[in-house]
Amino acid sequence: SRKIVIKVGSNVLSDDHGAVNREVLHNIVEQASDLMKKNKQVIMVSSGAGICGVGAINKWSRRGDMNYKQALCAIGQVELMMAYKEYFADYDIHVGQILLTSGDFKEPHRTLNIRNALFTLVDEGVVPVINENDSVSVDEIKIGDNDTLSAHTANLWNADLLIILSDIDGVYDKDPKNRQDAKLIEEVADIDQLLKTIDIGEKSSFGTGGIATKIEAARLVNQYGIPMILLNGKKPDIIKKALNQEETGTVFT
Ligand code: ADP
Repeated sequence: SRKIVIKVGSNVLSDDHGAVNREVLHNIVEQASDLMKKNKQVIMVSSGAGICGVGAINKWSRRGDMNYKQALCAIGQVELMMAYKEYFADYDIHVGQILLTSGDFKEPHRTLNIRNALFTLVDEGVVPVINENDSVSVDEIKIGDNDTLSAHTANLWNADLLIILSDIDGVYDKDPKNRQDAKLIEEVADIDQLLKTIDIGEKSSFGTGGIATKIEAARLVNQYGIPMILLNGKKPDIIKKALNQEETGTVFT
């Protein structure tokens, strides 16, 4: 596969104290640059603006307040991009920021413009770093999670592969965080069948990330013949190892 979308989850990037997990991010950027050296093209979809905002201003008050969250994302998006810019610069690669909302995928002329902008950036050897524009999207118009955003991006760009990096090794038959006997499912060819047999954890996590949106992202790209791999982004060199078949995750075909 030549065109690869890599989605980085917020749990991968944050260390729970509101700071970017720099070592992990640097390693992911290094792997992306390695892929580019091998003549592959890469688009990143990155979460983590909110958590970076918390780290930047060092407080996390007014938890439920939507406008406060929007403000945190505005602050944190800059921090996040600074980190991407700094790390990609180590490999002489430029980054370009693209912030999207659900409307961008609903109107054909907007979608076409984004598509052209993405192709242009990639043709210039630049890595687009995409995120939802959280500071301007209220709940009603939100895509809501970057798993779905990364799937739309992969489809829009005609990607050959979508890689979703999370903090678990893949899809399990039950939530591996609270069930020690959970078993990893390495390959999924039938998503409806999968959903009948696994436990996707708390209902509340449905629709706001969690494993459910990752499985639905797989469905979205698989419809267009694009495979998806779910991997543990906290493991060093996981993309390289998975593509060399030295490490496993869950592959959706
Ligand atoms: P990210 O920030 O990377 O998008 P999320 O926290 O939104 O990650 O989703 C991943 C989480 O989903 C895992 O950490 C895990 O606790 C939970 N989960 C629930 N059920 C499952 C399952 N059957 N297999 C894998 N993960 C599951």
